[in-house]
Amino acid sequence: MKKQQVGFPATLHDAIKYFANADHALDFMKSIRWPDGVVKCPRCGSKDVFFLSTRKIWKCKAKHEKQQFSVKVGTVLEDSPIALDKWLCAFWLIANAKNGISSYELHRSIGVTQKTAWFMLHRIRLAMHNESTEQFSGRVEADETFIGGRARNMHADKRAKILQRGRGAIGKVAVMGLLERNSPERASRVKVRVVRNVRRHGLHREIKKEVVKGSEIYTDSLRSYSGLAQEYIHNVIDHAECYAKGHVHTNGLENFWSLLKRGIKGTYVSVEPFHLFRYLDEQSFRFNERKDNDAGRFVKVVAGVIGKGLRYAKLIGKTGGDGLPKKTVSWQAQTWLLNHLGFETD
Ligand SMILES: [Zn+2]
Repeated sequence: MKKQQVGFPATLHDAIKYFANADHALDFMKSIRWPDGVVKCPRCGSKDVFFLSTRKIWKCKAKHEKQQFSVKVGTVLEDSPIALDKWLCAFWLIANAKNGISSYELHRSIGVTQKTAWFMLHRIRLAMHNESTEQFSGRVEADETFIGGRARNMHADKRAKILQRGRGAIGKVAVMGLLERNSPERASRVKVRVVRNVRRHGLHREIKKEVVKGSEIYTDSLRSYSGLAQEYIHNVIDHAECYAKGHVHTNGLENFWSLLKRGIKGTYVSVEPFHLFRYLDEQSFRFNERKDNDAGRFVKVVAGVIGKGLRYAKLIGKTGGDGLPKKTVSWQAQTWLLNHLGFETD
C-alpha cells in the first residue's frame, strides 16, 4: 500500500525532516533514477531484479559479477559511504545557496568532516554541469573575463592590451561567456567556459558551436571577435567610448561576471584554476534556474547525477567490460579531462 502523500519539501527545514526518513530518501532517488518506475540492473540492464528490503539494495538474477547494486551505483554518489539523507541535504544546500557554499559550511551544516564535505561539493558540482546542447538564438552577448590575480582592479586599457596579446597574465584563467537575452518565452541564460586563451580561433569556435547562425551577437571591440559578421549580425560596443548604445551592450554578462567574482571572493578562500570550471558550472546553473523555486532547483541537480558516471567514462573511453567506469582514473582527473576534451576536440 502506497503511503499517504506528505507533500514534497519546500524549504531546507522540510527537506531535512523529510529525507531523514530513509524510505523517503530511497523513494525519491528511485523516482529520479528510474522515472518509469522499473528498476534495472546498472550492469546488464535486466529488469529481472529483486529488492533486499533489509539492506535497501537490489540483486540482479542474471549471472555476472556484482549482482547487487544500490540506487547510487553508476551515479556520482557511487562508492560513497555517506548516507542518502546527508547527500540529499547537501544537494539542497548547494542548489539554493545564492553565492555557493564552502566545504566548511557544509561540514558544519550536515555533520561530516570538512574533507568529506569538500569531496561531496565537488561531486555535486559535477552533477550541475550543464549539458544542454541547445544552441542560443535571438540576441546573444559574448564576452570574456579573467579570474584570479588582480584582473578586476586592472585598468581597462591595460586589460585590453593583455587581451589583444590573446593571453591573460600568469595565474589568471580566461573565461568565455555567452548570454542569450530574455525573450517572451524564457528568461536569459548563460553558458560559461574556461578557455585556453581569448584568441580569435577559440572564441569563434565557441560561438559557432553554441549560437544559431544568423543570430544577433553583441561583443566589445576585442579584435578576436572581428569576422563574426560573416555568419551573424554582429554589433560592437566600444567600451572606450561608452558601455551601451541602445540594446548594443554586454551588460548582461558584465553583471554575471560580477556575481561570479563576488561569489568566489565571498565564499571561497580561493578557487584553484583546476577546479574553476566546476564553480562556473555551479554559478551558471543557479543563474539559469533562478526563476525556479528551491525544490525545483534541488530536483534538477539531483536529476543531474543519473548516469553521470557512465556518461563520463564513455566520453573518455574508459569503461570496464561491464559498462561501468574503471576505477583507474580518479574522478577529479576524469572531470578535468572531459572538460578539457570537451572544448579542445569539438
Ligand atoms: Zn544484471
